[in-house]
Amino acid sequence: MYSLLNTPLEVSPSKPLPVVIIGNGPSGICLSYLLSGNIPYIKRDSVHPHPILQRKLEETPAVSIVDQNLEYLSEGLEGRSHSPVALLLDVLLRPDTDFSGTEESVLTWWHEAKRVIPHLVLGKNLPGGAWHSIEGSMITLSQGDWMGLPDLQFKDWMSKKRRGLRNNRATAADIAQYYQHYVAKKGLKKNFICGTVVTYVKKVSPDANSSYEQQDSDINSSFCSSSVKPMEDDHTTCRSLFQVDGLAKTINGSQQQFSVYAENVILATGTYDSPSLLGVKGETLSFVHHKLSALEEAVKNKDLDMMSDPILIVGAGLTAADAILFAHHCNIPVIHAFRRRVNDPGLIFNQLPKMMYPEYHKVHQMMKEQSIACSGPYECYVSLPEHHILSFKEDKKCIFQDKNGHQKAYNISMAFILIGSNPNLTFLPSNGMDLAMDNEQPVNPKRNPIDVDPFTYECIHEKGLYAIGPLAGDNFVRFVQGGALAVASSLLKKANKNPP
Ligand SMILES: Cc1cc2nc3c(=O)[nH]c(=O)nc-3n(C[C@H](O)[C@H](O)[C@H](O)COP(=O)(O)OP(=O)(O)OC[C@H]3O[C@@H](n4cnc5c(N)ncnc54)[C@H](O)[C@@H]3O)c2cc1C
Repeated sequence: MYSLLNTPLEVSPSKPLPVVIIGNGPSGICLSYLLSGNIPYIKRDSVHPHPILQRKLEETPAVSIVDQNLEYLSEGLEGRSHSPVALLLDVLLRPDTDFSGTEESVLTWWHEAKRVIPHLVLGKNLPGGAWHSIEGSMITLSQGDWMGLPDLQFKDWMSKKRRGLRNNRATAADIAQYYQHYVAKKGLKKNFICGTVVTYVKKVSPDANSSYEQQDSDINSSFCSSSVKPMEDDHTTCRSLFQVDGLAKTINGSQQQFSVYAENVILATGTYDSPSLLGVKGETLSFVHHKLSALEEAVKNKDLDMMSDPILIVGAGLTAADAILFAHHCNIPVIHAFRRRVNDPGLIFNQLPKMMYPEYHKVHQMMKEQSIACSGPYECYVSLPEHHILSFKEDKKCIFQDKNGHQKAYNISMAFILIGSNPNLTFLPSNGMDLAMDNEQPVNPKRNPIDVDPFTYECIHEKGLYAIGPLAGDNFVRFVQGGALAVASSLLKKANKNPP
């Protein structure tokens, strides 16, 4: 059982926590591991296949990676991420994985008690983040090995559990279980408080203790209220603190407000919490859903079966494809609507190798071969390419418009709008927009991530605040870990926790 609140969670402003991490997914877990005094060194006698990196690593073999110059080490590395530190940690953990190699990590992890930075990890669900919300039977896009966290290989955990990978890929349920196991095995449980939702983060002055209650509670105001001193880089001078408020589930099931103070706050809240909306009339009707889990729920509750009116699935990404596969498996009739052409080269299916992802290619084939314009071999499925949804009606009719402006109506039983999701940063002033690369647009992992220093992941626009994971533009588990390394390195320097 993970800790729910059994005592009031109060951290006073006079004795703030060094670090609060918001979000308990892979990013938060990996950072907690590093802040718990687990320090990476290069294994003696290891030889990295990247000759330039190997030469650099030989220069200071006794210095841990967190204490080295990350900019220097990562310079010139290339790969599937734009973040140099993400590439660095990935290539140290999985030296030749992009060339289908299986060479072991060149890192060894030492526990150094003096370098522990006390911290709390707050999260809505169990440790594992988004992986507890993703349908358990879904197969990962990434290879199983790329889902692992430092110093506990995913494949070793799988073989201990006597479970196998499918086409080198794992199920979301296995991944979620592995992350929970990781937290327990690495002794991190004490840092995690599950069942907590952060509702408010604000910068406050440490010497304004008595005025905390009077702080402006308008979360749309900017980060700094006028009474707050600007945070300084030098930790010996007077710094501001962050006030982190939220609601926590207690052991007896009730909810309790909490308030903690921290010198540094790490945003690791991912981007899976707020599904994107179409913004059309009737979208809030009860038969219209925005999560794949609602489809599974409906099947489980026997609200849907092969005799039902078709369900509508909107979207042409992998979650929509997962929904189609699930419905197909249960013989539930599907109408599948999406805005793009079936042959649009930008469709995700065109970017996935056929051999590794046969199921997604099958969906793409169905989209092409069984459209409204031509009937194909697939039962219980019809695709509506280049169609927009105009509205949903109370009598469960959905009105569509095709590319020529023609409108049509279909009876449906339920609708599932699976067109992506957005981060939910309502707990930050101006929904975190002030922190984004373009501070006039909402934060978006692909188009407008939070603007961070690439070697510390500290927010450019707010010192003491850091962002990791998709919020900072790192969208895959193998790459979110580099952000955690950068943050740990920065915090160790700030805390003056120099190597022993
Ligand atoms: C359907 C799907 C399939 C995917 N497949 C892959 C794949 O194959 N390979 C891969 O590498 N990546 C995949 N990803 C991406 C992967 O999920 C993310 O890269 C990864 O989970 C990011 O980790 P994180 O810790 O930054 O965020 P998350 O895993 O999203 O965890 C953040 C957690 O913080 C919680 N949180 C948010 N706001 C608050 C708050 N205010 N208070 C408290 N807690 C809060 C959230 O509820 C969540 O549990 C997939 C994502 C989805 C949605």
